[in-house]
Amino acid sequence: MPIAEATVSVMDRGFLFGDGVYEVIPVYSQRAFRLPEHLQRLQNSLDAIRLINPKTNLEWSQLIAEMIALNKGDDQSVYLQITRGADSKRNHAFPEHVFPTVFMMSEPLVTPSAALRESGVAAVTAMDNRWLRCDIKSTSLLANCLLRQQAVDAGCVETILLREGQLSEGAASNIFVVKNGVLLAPQKNNFVLPGITYDVVLELAEQHGLTVEVRTISEEELRTADEVWMTSSTKEVLAITLLDGQPVGAEPYRGRPGPVGAQMYTWYQNFKTEVMRSDA
Ligand code: PMP
Repeated sequence: MPIAEATVSVMDRGFLFGDGVYEVIPVYSQRAFRLPEHLQRLQNSLDAIRLINPKTNLEWSQLIAEMIALNKGDDQSVYLQITRGADSKRNHAFPEHVFPTVFMMSEPLVTPSAALRESGVAAVTAMDNRWLRCDIKSTSLLANCLLRQQAVDAGCVETILLREGQLSEGAASNIFVVKNGVLLAPQKNNFVLPGITYDVVLELAEQHGLTVEVRTISEEELRTADEVWMTSSTKEVLAITLLDGQPVGAEPYRGRPGPVGAQMYTWYQNFKTEVMRSDA
């Protein structure tokens, strides 16, 4: 139905408490990218908030295919969220009988322009003041919204989060660092969302023989990096070339996207094309 006609109860726990989880699935050439991985992450999020998955993976696949067909564009961003439904009264504890609310929509997928990829983007840093279950893809995103707005207020694209002096992730992306040709990635734990793009980047690095270290990354390492990237389903692999007003990297790439990121971007695009072709 048209989005303006879709309604939800004011008693919905997603509305009252942010009691829900979500997924964003990129669609290329009318095909959902990495769908099994997205559905597995959705299941993990549902398990973590003790909500029974209202659909089987087959049903999700069919609904998503229908959503894609109805929205027609080749490249889309499918959003879906599941909340713990509406109750008759406002009560923090779960309702006795839970009827989850499922909401899905599709928007055109807008990936960074060639100009943005060539210049790279600016980011600020901030203290990661979110909770300790950032691995759940929860619709409770107030902290992420406040943190992302800090970047926007500073004319930047992303806020890079530091928890006790260590890199966690971006307000809405994962962050990678390159130093001396080595790709550094924070490990997946309760402080970061396990990004689908993050996994693809690590798989591609391994496949192409890039040296990778998955470990804690200090603020010092972030600030003295040769390259810093943000990754997400919509930003793909995007260089951060200015951090808190300081150019990232060393000459000849100081303040410019570096070669490892450019290589990873190409691998990522080729991989997408291959996957879409083999799925056809
Ligand atoms: N971390 C956070 C906090 C996010 O919101 C996102 C998604 N926007 C990511 C990482 C990246 O995840 P994915 O690669 O699955 O889009």
